[in-house]
Amino acid sequence: MNFPDLHRHLGGATHPRILWGYIEKHGRETDVACRLRERFGGYDGFAREFSRPFADLADYLTVHHLVESLQAEDVPYFATRAVRGAAVFESIDYLEIRFNPYKRTPSGLPQLERIKLLPEITAQVIRAGRATGFPINTAYILCMDRGFPLLLNRAIMYLAHRMPEVVGVDLAGPYQDGGMTWEEWARLFAEAKSVGLKTTAHMAESDPDDVHPELFPHLDRIGHGIQIALNHPHHLPELAERRICLEVCPTTYLRTNTLQDLSELAPVFARCEDAGVPVSIATDNPALHGDSGRIVGQYEVLVRADVIHFNDILRYTQTGYEHAFGDVRGKGN
Ligand SMILES: [Zn+2]
Repeated sequence: MNFPDLHRHLGGATHPRILWGYIEKHGRETDVACRLRERFGGYDGFAREFSRPFADLADYLTVHHLVESLQAEDVPYFATRAVRGAAVFESIDYLEIRFNPYKRTPSGLPQLERIKLLPEITAQVIRAGRATGFPINTAYILCMDRGFPLLLNRAIMYLAHRMPEVVGVDLAGPYQDGGMTWEEWARLFAEAKSVGLKTTAHMAESDPDDVHPELFPHLDRIGHGIQIALNHPHHLPELAERRICLEVCPTTYLRTNTLQDLSELAPVFARCEDAGVPVSIATDNPALHGDSGRIVGQYEVLVRADVIHFNDILRYTQTGYEHAFGDVRGKGN
């Protein structure tokens, strides 16, 4: 059977072997590859960085920064491999890939120069993802960042609006000081909806208090949102009313030390089902999650932990297709 995956970061979508292969090939030509080659010495050391235990979400995201800097050197190379791997090794027939285009521009350039490069970088990812020849539909989400100023996040949002293959925007990035206020985020998401974009936001992933109801009126989906069901279930009726779908990515919560055991997700699924909140099962960053990180593995670990029943699998894949932002025609059969 086939699967949709609505939540996958480009930065967490390429296997460490692919990244190291690039480093070996270009380790003497480019700064970042050269630095990584020196830092890790060989594949084993590099792969250990991906499979090591992470202290928390912030620690987990440090590997993202490492990958983003490498991917900035040749974005199409990594986008092609992310998409074809999902089609061939995971039976994914509908994939939404999200990425922050600004983080794929050369960090040494002034901000304005980097902003000018955003359309070309985004187009390169889309072209590369579409040219694999494998039977998979792809759609693209541009990530805005918690730490970016309004001007930059707005530039990303309007870029998403201008490119037909980009179906939505996301709010991502590590928690940090100096970012936008939640009022500003609510206004920006309202603006995104008003120009026809679909919207999702990372929220209530690890921190129980990272819940921002002022965004609910402007969201189609929430990235994770498990802490809403676990700690603030009084919000669930509103999510159901607004048909906001949660993108639940099980292995992430173990890797970020958010949960100690996946059975802790049982109340999330049960409460969402009772309240009528749609839930889709997704991967987030399979490259950091070992063998069970693939989409099939995400369903399997939930069945093994008695969080969902085997007979529910089709229903959850269907929810994924129903809440997709892009074209799923003919998919899921
Ligand atoms: Zn994510």
